[in-house]
Order: sequence, then structure tokens, then C-alpha cells
Amino acid sequence: MMDQATRTRKIRIGGVEVGGGAPVVVQSMCATRTVDIDKTIAQTHQLARAGAGIVRIALDNAKEVPALKEIRAQTPGVTLSVDLQENYRIAGKVAPYVDKIRYNPGHLHHIEKSKTIPQKVKWLVDIARDHDLAIRIGVNCGSVAPAFLEKYPGDQLTAIVESAAYHCALMEEYGFDRFVVSLKDSDPAKVLEANRRMTERRPDVPLHLGVTEAGLPPDGIIKTRLAFEKLLAQHIGDTIRVSLTLPNERKHEEVVVGHQIIADVKAGRFISVPDFGTGMNIISCPSCSRVENEKFVELTQQVKELTTYASQYRITIAVMGCRVNGPGETDDADLGLWCGPTTVNLKKKDRKVGNFTYEDVLPRLRSEVDRLIAERSPAMN
Ligand code: SF4
Repeated sequence: MMDQATRTRKIRIGGVEVGGGAPVVVQSMCATRTVDIDKTIAQTHQLARAGAGIVRIALDNAKEVPALKEIRAQTPGVTLSVDLQENYRIAGKVAPYVDKIRYNPGHLHHIEKSKTIPQKVKWLVDIARDHDLAIRIGVNCGSVAPAFLEKYPGDQLTAIVESAAYHCALMEEYGFDRFVVSLKDSDPAKVLEANRRMTERRPDVPLHLGVTEAGLPPDGIIKTRLAFEKLLAQHIGDTIRVSLTLPNERKHEEVVVGHQIIADVKAGRFISVPDFGTGMNIISCPSCSRVENEKFVELTQQVKELTTYASQYRITIAVMGCRVNGPGETDDADLGLWCGPTTVNLKKKDRKVGNFTYEDVLPRLRSEVDRLIAERSPAMN
């Protein structure tokens, strides 16, 4: 495994060391429904067997905590992280069953509006300290804290780096340093730049790298490599996750690919794809416990096949697995699809086109792609 520079501080997450010269840790996330205990236990083992040092599980509400408790009991030795999503208050209930909590600074304002952000962070720090947990400050370009968007209008990269730096400072003010930071986006160029800037800003803070919604392999792997190869070669990144759209039985391939990228960088093998990203760009989430219909992965593959005829056009299509992040994460795409239990919502930028069955959405998508192509002059291809 590749050792990173000793510049970052070393922290412990469960039984795993991150940063400070420790080998880069590959993480992954369960895509099974958390309440489906047997499947989630099986997937946790599947990911750990493939070499995941940390396995993340998403919880939406307190009703899912008994499932997490059972998952914890049946996965001894696996370092578990939990994603708090919009409900940071769930941290108090999940803390006994995990080794790390991940919160998104851009989601803290959603609940308990009478409390300040520092009050909320202090509460999370106290929970972490009491339960021997680490924390990930997980900043995402798709959900930047409103205060930082207002402070740096039109400069999203500065907004996310400053938001992360602010949360680092809050943690330290409360005497807590067992944290890592992630700065994610679906655009590898932004991931590259954001992490370089964060390293300049806070060289001591361990970083978790990720290109969100990288999509189906092989394109999703190429997008991830575009950012990871350069960053890892500069000793930036102490943990990584490769977010690929894969069916559950192949989910462990994320981990295999992560280890392969690390090995390639260590051996000086870089995959150069100079023209990648100049044509059709399909973004799709890796799915998680929130995915509303397992047809999501198949739908993404169908979107890829259906749009092959337009591969030379610079069009971005986003396919997302749920109603929670789907509406927001598709806003910047030319065309967006987000899945519900029985239907798919189709959008053109931030405007809703309609709600279609999983079958009917494909011909409608085709006509929207045709319309986009017709609207564009050849120079804009
Ligand atoms: S878009 Fe929804 S289903 Fe997909 S990874 Fe994000 S939260 Fe999970």
C-alpha cells in the first residue's frame, strides 16, 4: 500500500489509522437498505473482504437504529462509519454502534434552526468524544452551507474550502482533533483544485478523497483517476472512495478499483485520457440505502446506451437514485433523472419536465436529447 506524507496528523478511526504517513485507506459504502439487516451485513463483509478499511452506512431516522445495532453486532472487526445526512441529531443514537460519524456542514441548518452552527458542532464533538469516535467533515459542492455561498458569491471552490476550514477551526476550538475533511464534486477538475487548496490552507488535516457520482465503469473509473492520480502523486489524500454505479453483487469493485489506483500511482503508472470529458457526460450516484428502486442501476445503463448516438455532444445527464438528493444534485445537469419508487422524474436544468414510468422515461429522454442537439449550433457541440 502507498504511504502518504507525514504532513497530516495521524488519527484513529476504530482500528484503522489515517494520515500521518499511514497507508492510504480505501473506503466504500453499503448500497443496501439499512433496515434489510441480512443484506447489509453481507455487503459490509463483501466490502471488507475486498479491502475496505472503513465501511459507511447511511441512516435517515431513529427507526433504523436497531438495524444498525444488529449490523454492528454481526460485523466485529469492521470499522464502521455512519452518514448523518440531513438529520445530524441522529448522531446521539448511532454513536454506540459506529467508529466514525460523517456530517455535511451544508446540511446542519436544516433542523433546529434556533441553534447556531457552533452549538451544533460542539454537540457533535461531545458525542464523538464520549463514544471514542472520529468525525468526517464531509463538504459537497452540491450542498454548500448557505452562509458560505453568500460570502463567496460565484466562487464555489473558495466557499467549500472556507466552509471546511471553518469547521476544522470549530472542532479545534472544542479541543477535538480526530477529524478528516472531504471536499467532493462530480467534476474531477473541481475535486483536484479543492483538495489542492485545502492542503495549502490546512496541510495538517487528513483528507478523504472522492469524486461523487462518478457513474458507471469504465467512465466513472476514468473520472476518478483524473483527480486521484494527480492528488495521490502529490501525497494529497489519506483515505479514498471510488463512487461507482454498480449492482449490489458487484459493489466491492469500488474497493478493488481504489486499491488498483493506489498501486498504479505508487508504481508510477498513470492512465492518461487527454480527450476525456469533452463529449456526453453521464453522472450517476453510487446508490446507497436510500435508493428508491433497484431498477436505478439498470436505468443508468439504459441511459448510457440510449445516448451513445450523441456521444460527441457536450451534454451532461445526471441520474440519481432517490428523492432526497436527486432533485438538488440534478440542477446543474442539462438533463436530470431522479428515481422514485415507481416513477422517474425528468428535469431540464432546474425545470421539471415530468414524471414517467421507468419504461416511458427513456423515449422522452431521447426526444429531450434530440431537442438539445437541435438547439445547439455546431460550434457549441
Ligand atoms: S442520490 Fe440518493 S440514492 Fe444516490 S447516493 Fe445519494 S442519497 Fe444515495
